Amino acid sequence: MTKAICWKCGVFKTGSFIPCPNCNADPITEDERLISLFLTDHYHDEAALNALHVQIRSGGKKYQISGEHEKKLLFNQQPNNLCVF
Ligand SMILES: [Zn+2]
Repeated sequence: MTKAICWKCGVFKTGSFIPCPNCNADPITEDERLISLFLTDHYHDEAALNALHVQIRSGGKKYQISGEHEKKLLFNQQPNNLCVF
């Protein structure tokens, strides 16, 4: 099961593309989907994910994805790699 965090409020959820159980944020746009995909245990280990969780929870800032990561994610976004839900 994918461990993911909400890009808006930082709470943990169990899939990249499911609506957030806390703030109800639903990744619809390409940017939101990329960020959601990035904020999972596919791209971060447990410690890094926890750090991001704390960062987003405390900062209240919208998470921004770097251009380099975005390219990598777009490259990886093949059907076989999309293990969500
Ligand atoms: Zn949320």
